[in-house]
Amino acid sequence: MGTFGTPRRVLVRGEGPYVWDADGRRYLDLLGGIAVNALGHAHPTLTAAISAQLGTLGHISNFFASPTQIVLAERLLELAGAGDVPGSRVFFTSSGTEANEAAFKMARRTGRPRVLALEGAFHGRTMGALALTHKEAYRAPFEPLPGGVEFVPFGDAQALAEAMADDVAAVVLEVVQGEAGVRPLPPGYLAHARRLCDEHGALLVLDEVQTGVGRTGAWFAHQHPTLGGGVRPDVMTLAKGLGGGFPIGAVVAYGERAASLLGAGQHGTTFGGNPVAAAAALATLGVIDRDRLLDHVRTVSDRLVDALRDVGSPVREVRAAGLLVAVELDAPVAAQVAARALDAGFIVNPVTPTALRLAPPLVVTAGQLAGFVDFLRGEATARPAAPGPQGAAADETTETS
Ligand SMILES: *Cc1c(COP(=O)(O)O)cnc(C)c1O
Repeated sequence: MGTFGTPRRVLVRGEGPYVWDADGRRYLDLLGGIAVNALGHAHPTLTAAISAQLGTLGHISNFFASPTQIVLAERLLELAGAGDVPGSRVFFTSSGTEANEAAFKMARRTGRPRVLALEGAFHGRTMGALALTHKEAYRAPFEPLPGGVEFVPFGDAQALAEAMADDVAAVVLEVVQGEAGVRPLPPGYLAHARRLCDEHGALLVLDEVQTGVGRTGAWFAHQHPTLGGGVRPDVMTLAKGLGGGFPIGAVVAYGERAASLLGAGQHGTTFGGNPVAAAAALATLGVIDRDRLLDHVRTVSDRLVDALRDVGSPVREVRAAGLLVAVELDAPVAAQVAARALDAGFIVNPVTPTALRLAPPLVVTAGQLAGFVDFLRGEATARPAAPGPQGAAADETTETS
């Protein structure tokens, strides 16, 4: 179906941060399958883990347990800092939107009617997750959506305080809004949300589908010293980078209260967390750990941001959370620049009319990124004098999840 418009290229092969198209042309993949390919393409450890698991036990149902799934759940709880919170549990899914569906159902099980989300939020495309997604153009064609969701202005601590009450089931936040163009929550906001949730007995749900699993240079963005400051959620959702390219998502519930909201028979999935998906996630987490990729992400991100800020026109501003980066341009020409970047051998994503999003494999090097910075420098003279389409028209040229 035409949901993604016309594909820009047919890609046939990948290796590390590079992919090749059907005509044999090579591209530096600065989108990473939308923040998914943490280890790049065709990583030997990931390939071996998936192959070995598929050759041993590929799929069972969730009526049965598998060692890989159990080990993965324990590893996620440990990394999330939930290992020492008694009663913590994990539910596995096959995607981010499904992880948020589960979180939404957990919120409903509190018996409270209201759920607060932020303006600019993106939480997925299935009906529940869509109800939590702010963008009118995504939601309007599919109404009526599940009710009770209210959007409060992004980053406005006062507005959140005013909306909070004892009938709020959950506050759902992205630590950094990815689809809105890499917008981190303002300093202190997350701690403020945590306090309000505690005061009113609401769940703090963090959607780390895009920001989790090393993307920001911390295992999870809420653990990042400046982005999240270590504020602990009650529920965290993951997907994208978790399986290094193999589809898997997860809902991490901290403590007995959150973890017991969904009882036997109240939720399910056929594929979620099957042995192959779990093996892929374990291998991905293992390589991030073994190769010290969190340190690497921070180093490479700092160098990239410095280089981008040095470009001048057409770069107006750079926002970065590790290797989740937005390059804000000085005109609404993101779609045109992305098209020229593709011709020049760089895959980037025009996430808003004025911003390019970069979410490269975590293994990308500063040297590999330098070529893209040079390309942008060349854009100062290459771009057309007249700005591209404005407003709604320009918006249709953006590419989001
Ligand atoms: C991509 C994304 C989702 C949806 O994930 P899918 O795997 O595409 O369903 C949800 N939340 C956030 C923050 C995302 O970036």
